Amino acid sequence: MGGRNKALTIGKLKASGYKPASVKQELRRNLIATIRSKRDIFPGIIGYDDTVIPQLENALISGQDIIFLGERGQAKSRIMRALVNLLDEEIPVIKGCEINDNPLAPICRHCRDRIAEEGDATEIAWLPRQERYSEKLATPDIAIADLIGDVDPIKVAEGKYLSDELTIHYGLIPRTNRGIFCINELPDLAERLQVGLFNLMEERDIQIRGYRIRLPLDIFLVASANPEDYTNRGRIITPLKDRFGAQVRTHYPTTIENEMAIMEMERRQFSGDEIESYTPQFMKEIIAEVTHLGRRSPDINQRSGVSVRISIGNYETIVSNALRRAVMLGEKMAVPRISDLPYIQSSTGAKIELEGFEETREGKIIDDLSRKAVLNVFNRYYRPSEMETLTTQFSEGFSVEVSDMMKSNAYVRNVKEIIGLAETIRAVTDSERPEVIASATEFVLEGLHVNKRLNKTKSEGKTVYRH
Ligand SMILES: [Zn+2]
Repeated sequence: MGGRNKALTIGKLKASGYKPASVKQELRRNLIATIRSKRDIFPGIIGYDDTVIPQLENALISGQDIIFLGERGQAKSRIMRALVNLLDEEIPVIKGCEINDNPLAPICRHCRDRIAEEGDATEIAWLPRQERYSEKLATPDIAIADLIGDVDPIKVAEGKYLSDELTIHYGLIPRTNRGIFCINELPDLAERLQVGLFNLMEERDIQIRGYRIRLPLDIFLVASANPEDYTNRGRIITPLKDRFGAQVRTHYPTTIENEMAIMEMERRQFSGDEIESYTPQFMKEIIAEVTHLGRRSPDINQRSGVSVRISIGNYETIVSNALRRAVMLGEKMAVPRISDLPYIQSSTGAKIELEGFEETREGKIIDDLSRKAVLNVFNRYYRPSEMETLTTQFSEGFSVEVSDMMKSNAYVRNVKEIIGLAETIRAVTDSERPEVIASATEFVLEGLHVNKRLNKTKSEGKTVYRH
């Protein structure tokens, strides 16, 4: 439908040869066209190419309503919202209709009356796709009126009969007619609302205060749920469960690379800082590894999940601590170091739930995850058993002091003093910048420590590595 020549009456729309399609037909048609043209259907969705996306596409091609099962922070909302891009840019609706009636097949009484009176001269409007999507988080306080509708007392006072659909004040779902309706955390929806939802979707009628009104809506229904809530018997009424043609299981990034790609894409970035910011690859890997280890930790409640948001938050935190250091020390570059890691407590603690009565041990649990993450990442780069040149120098009484607020040049002096350190560092960076050398030095020292090749003592904010 070209912009300037858009039909503005039912007569003109008919003359244009417009063929109405249901929302599912429309999604299907546009999905197939997008696959054919090899365009990216879900931009910014990483790591789902071989798992979630094929299942989702099959469901759309089948015209099945979908429920996404997954823990928090698995891009469920993002995928749901991206479905809007598969709708036509705009569709014709009867002007002023509360439920976006199709001009060629109106369902509301008001529109049918109007067409009977005005015929082909009935005005139409064009509804953009962004306005054809609604979502609602299922909470115990949602009422039937919000979701489905209620009797409008003003209309009743005007003399309309209660059984007359003209007295209805439509809720969110009817107002999303011919669009996509998403309900998040479906198992939390009260049972009577689930019944109402089912009647609307399957029986195509609404029941309000004992009255039954036929309303054959055209809706693509998408829901999300935590897998455990969903499988829990009694949380979702069976007929509604059966309504979903496809269950799509989402998941956390399966690889460190995908975790890092999401971290990089999602982290909050500010422009205009005078200080250059750079995060070495190994530091990003450590942050991603902390999260991956967290997902396997028996101390953390896995039902609530360990979201990618933890990786993103932790990444932001170490970058910020590096920036704070650079400002305080007057350095030109902000480069995160191992000694910045303790600060991820604040960005991790808020986003995990511990098992049982472990709250008091939260700090220790997060520290342990950091240590193991450093160990795993270090051992991907180095073989500690082949690093004796470095460690023997410490057994001869040598020690190195580090801290998150120590000037980077102090580390450069160490690199000159310790035989073999400069070469060792080159495995992770070829930068000559003192800030990067400081970060790599700490990585090597801590890596040797977690491999039990160096001892470490902490006091007054400083860490000393020695034999
Ligand atoms: Zn209408």
